[in-house]
Amino acid sequence: MSPHAIIIGAGIVGLSTACSLARAGVRVSVLERGSPGRESSWAGAGILSSLLPWDYPEAVQRLVEEGRRLWPIWADDIWRHTGIDPEYRVSGMLALGVPAADRALEWCRVQGWLGHSGQEIPPCIQSAVSPEVLACDERSAAHVWLPEVAQLRNPRLVRGMASLAETLGVRIHAEQARISLRLRNDRITHVLAGQEELACTHVVICAGAWSAEVLEELGVSVPIKPIRGQILLFRDAPGRLPCIVYRQGKYLVPRADGHILAGSTLEDVGFDKATTGAAYAELRRFAWETLSWLRGIEPIRHWSGLRPGSGGNVPIIARHPTIGNLYLNGGHYRYGVTMAPASADRLTHLLLEQEAGNGMSDYAWRSH
Ligand SMILES: Cc1cc2nc3c(=O)[nH]c(=O)nc-3n(C[C@H](O)[C@H](O)[C@H](O)COP(=O)(O)OP(=O)(O)OC[C@H]3O[C@@H](n4cnc5c(N)ncnc54)[C@H](O)[C@@H]3O)c2cc1C
Repeated sequence: MSPHAIIIGAGIVGLSTACSLARAGVRVSVLERGSPGRESSWAGAGILSSLLPWDYPEAVQRLVEEGRRLWPIWADDIWRHTGIDPEYRVSGMLALGVPAADRALEWCRVQGWLGHSGQEIPPCIQSAVSPEVLACDERSAAHVWLPEVAQLRNPRLVRGMASLAETLGVRIHAEQARISLRLRNDRITHVLAGQEELACTHVVICAGAWSAEVLEELGVSVPIKPIRGQILLFRDAPGRLPCIVYRQGKYLVPRADGHILAGSTLEDVGFDKATTGAAYAELRRFAWETLSWLRGIEPIRHWSGLRPGSGGNVPIIARHPTIGNLYLNGGHYRYGVTMAPASADRLTHLLLEQEAGNGMSDYAWRSH
């Protein structure tokens, strides 16, 4: 039987994995419970970096860096093959009030990042944020300007990625409410999707925050759980905020057309996707404090998404230890968009029994 991989879940991780496998010559079907790309991958902010990269271990930064290198190529591919522009832009990120800035700048030097602080931060970047915030945060810590941080616009990205997958011959079966895996002699032989029974050689679980739920029917447990994040959207004049701003664990992300995202919360509340008044007030206060010209302007939208939370932002990209044709690409937590192309390429190499890249033991199958 020629290889036929079935991917469960059409978020950015499932769609990237589908594209990567299809490019490698594998026949791919994606089964999605709802509409493709409408969960966490739609809801995110699209920053292509970890928030303060010097705070993360190598297992996280390795995938973040690989993703950062691959995204300009993947975004260009989406645009050229589908006509959908995912708005890849290098907008830079100004991190305000960074504790131990010397360590941050030393990290930038060693990693080859262009990190600047103090007078080296361009005046047009400094003047973007409110002078009180700039002065107040500087009393206790320094500001760091990271000019190479890029971003993508999530709704366009997932739409473009789904369309790219289809141009590569991937079949996406959306709105599949009842999906079930058929296990025989430590192999998954078929996947049931409604009335249809699909034979497969490989199954890759990319169900984001729901990955543990999907695996439960096989008696397999993985340490992935939903962590809710809420975001507010403001409408502003294009170009007024020139860069991403990070401050006290939150961020502002300007889109090319002037929209500004203010995010986000980190909430361990199970599979509850409700938005809350408390988060609205907290994020609005943060946005108004940081950008004086936004004061008094109400957000035009408020949404939430469920991140696939896993220990320390380290995903699982692995084959199951005993079910020989079952794979998991999941648990990317806060940085799944950034990591997606790197994670997809590694999973593809693993499935094709090729060298999957250094440090793969960091992404090995983990149980509770
Ligand atoms: C508020 C917020 C801000 C974020 N900001 C950033 C950021 O700036 N940068 C960054 O890199 N990352 C960010 N993230 C994280 C990033 O969005 C996630 O890590 C990433 O989207 C995970 O992708 P995924 O494909 O694994 O999950 P998802 O996008 O959630 O996709 C999983 C898919 O599986 C489907 N599914 C579930 N169960 C089943 C089933 N039984 N059968 C079939 N299909 C099923 C779902 O419907 C869904 O479409 C943010 C997340 C949030 C919520």
